Amino acid sequence: MATPYTPEQVLGLLSISPKAKGNELVIRCPIQGCTDTSTHMSINKATGQVYCLHCNWRGNILTLFATMQGMNSKEAYAVILKALGIWNESDMEGSISKIQKLKEENRERAIKLAPSPLLPMNDLSMTYWELLGNLSLSNEHTLSLKERGFEDYFINVREYKSAPVNDYHLLLPDKMAMNGVSLEGVPGFHKNEKGKWEFIKCRPGIFVPVRDNEGRIRGIQHRIDEDARRIKDGKKESKYKWVSSQSWEGYTNGCGPQGVVHWACEYDFSPRLRKDHPRLNRSDEDGKYIGLTEGPMKADLFFQLSGVPTIAVPGINVQDHLVSALKEAKAIGVTKVFGLLDMDYESNENVRNACERIVQSVTSTGLIYQRLTWDKEFNGIDDYYAFKTKGIRR
Ligand SMILES: [Zn+2]
Repeated sequence: MATPYTPEQVLGLLSISPKAKGNELVIRCPIQGCTDTSTHMSINKATGQVYCLHCNWRGNILTLFATMQGMNSKEAYAVILKALGIWNESDMEGSISKIQKLKEENRERAIKLAPSPLLPMNDLSMTYWELLGNLSLSNEHTLSLKERGFEDYFINVREYKSAPVNDYHLLLPDKMAMNGVSLEGVPGFHKNEKGKWEFIKCRPGIFVPVRDNEGRIRGIQHRIDEDARRIKDGKKESKYKWVSSQSWEGYTNGCGPQGVVHWACEYDFSPRLRKDHPRLNRSDEDGKYIGLTEGPMKADLFFQLSGVPTIAVPGINVQDHLVSALKEAKAIGVTKVFGLLDMDYESNENVRNACERIVQSVTSTGLIYQRLTWDKEFNGIDDYYAFKTKGIRR
């Protein structure tokens, strides 16, 4: 859909003068926390798609404007049109009727459809970007992440957000429909009895985007706040859950998450392959290496503190996609994997067996495995590094 404004006009409103480069505009990345000192952000003149090679921020000219101005997309759209003197109420009615039409179409389809197959990966990732773009991170959550050792820029770039609470989950689908992303086939979205799209109702917690080897968001882990965790059979439920809309009674068109191995790394764009790939910036006498741990947030924190690109299985017993992730790693030049699994692995037989399966997966892929150990006072590698680099003791 053509927009009534050009990327140049919107940049003008932000007082940014771009340089032209073929069919793209390039600018110094204005995203808060990005350390770009050159012109790593490119904007496609025709589509308005925006991408920063430095911090991997992605979106379009509208969401860039919205992010810079601290608004949602709908507000930003109105502000841009008003600033350019091309605003009239019927534009707004136009987009509202578009949403209404979408809703009606969805209602019709709701009758026919069973659980939805997952969207193709690129589209799924676009929807999750749009979702996260409509969420914010509460001060409380920011503080708790910083107390663990996370830096502001990293939290921002990795798009950690607070799970939507109150009734915000009901508003999200309409907000997101403004930008034309698909909700069908995206874990977390489903339709209610009336055929209206909803995002799942969440308990308070932090959304941790799970990214693949191309930087695409393939799923979201929900880290539930300590005081919101339920007791089940006398045991506290697990701290992390996948954002999923699989098994909700009275709802249709939902779907469950895919098992995915998370990459905590920087990405480089390969013009030849026309996609991102993990930046392998560490090597020793055995060649290029990566770390391997359990839990995306743990991998993210360790990567931020150490700079070592690290992959993470979502849970110690969830290793379905590990071998294919290791094969992808090998294909881009990884020769060695450092095992960074929690230090208590020896005391728990279940965990010990799971660790052994991980070692088997690594060696059967033809990669060198080396277990790292550290002071047992710190169970996780992230906690150990937070202490080592910042003196944080939790
Ligand atoms: Zn950037």
